[in-house]
Amino acid sequence: MSFLKNVNVQENNDMKRQKQIINKLLKKLENKFCADCKNAPPTWASINLGVLICINCSGCHRELGAHISKIKSINLDVWPLDALENFKQINNKIANDYWEYNLNLKEINFDKIKKNRDEIMKFIRNKYEYKKWININEIDPMQKIKQNNINNNININNNLNNNNEKYQFNWNYFNKNINNNTNINNGK
Ligand SMILES: [Zn+2]
Repeated sequence: MSFLKNVNVQENNDMKRQKQIINKLLKKLENKFCADCKNAPPTWASINLGVLICINCSGCHRELGAHISKIKSINLDVWPLDALENFKQINNKIANDYWEYNLNLKEINFDKIKKNRDEIMKFIRNKYEYKKWININEIDPMQKIKQNNINNNININNNLNNNNEKYQFNWNYFNKNINNNTNINNGK
C-alpha cells in the first residue's frame, strides 16, 4: 500500500518536473508551431526525431511506425528522462535545419497540404522515412546530442582521472615524507 503510494508520489513528481521542462520548451519561439505542417501549436513530440508536432501530424508519425518515429504526448505521457534532457538541447528550428535542409519552403503550400491528410502524410514520409531533404553532411540532431552527451561524460571521467592522478602524486609525496621521518627516527 505505502509502496504504491510512494510510486505514485514519484510519478507525480516526475510529471511535474516534465511539465516544467516542456512548458519552457513550448515558450521558445522556434517551437510555437508544428515542425511539420507549420500551422498548429505542438501537443505531441517525436522523441527520437527531436521534433514537436501537432496532433494531426502525430497521427501521420504513428503511421510511419515506431521504428521511424517514437511519439509521445506532451501532456499525457511520461517521457523517458534521457529524452527530456535531450530536448533541452533542441528545438524545431535546429531539427528542421537538418530534416528540411534541402527543402525550399516556398515549394510547398503548407496552408493547403495541412488540410489534406494524404498530402501531409506524403510530406512527412518524404521528410523522415525517405530523408529526402536532409543535410547529408551532418548526422541527425538527436544522434548528435547523444554523441555530445557521451563525449561530455568522457570529459567528466577524464577530469576525475586527472584528479586521481593529482591525488596519487600527493600520496607519493606523503609516503616519502613519512619515510624520511622514519629514517630520522631510526637515526636517533
Ligand atoms: Zn502539424
